[in-house]
Amino acid sequence: MRVGIGHDTHRLAEGRPLILGGIRIDHPRGLLGHSDADVVLHAVADALLGAAGLGDIGEHYPDTDPRWSGLDSGKLLDEVVARLARDGWTTVNCDLVIHAQEPKLGPHKSALRENLARLLRVAPSAVNVKAKTGELVGPIGRAEAIACEAVVLIESQ
Ligand code: MG
Repeated sequence: MRVGIGHDTHRLAEGRPLILGGIRIDHPRGLLGHSDADVVLHAVADALLGAAGLGDIGEHYPDTDPRWSGLDSGKLLDEVVARLARDGWTTVNCDLVIHAQEPKLGPHKSALRENLARLLRVAPSAVNVKAKTGELVGPIGRAEAIACEAVVLIESQ
């Protein structure tokens, strides 16, 4: 068994769709980035790569590469899961913390959990989603950015 940690932060901006954990969330602002800027899927992908000792998504999917422009991060995470599967790794569980002052994520937690479980090829009970506000301080609390931390456990078959 191996454990991995991932983190990601993206800025909130006008005129962008908000996509978290592969779920489109109705909100006036979305995350800015080269891809769809899905902080949840990026943190989870980095945690998986870290657990397998395979570096980080910046090495595999550089933001200077036009192929990843506007990329659906679900596709990215699916590729990472497939890459680990080829090496005999499966996911045991995933726990994550999303830091967002807005929008309120409570109503979206179960959809996020279901979609992450689908992408990670595990039961929904093996995925846990926690949401924290920034208590109105710092870039998260001022709703300038959303961040996510993820921990995953993988096991070799
Ligand atoms: Mg990112």
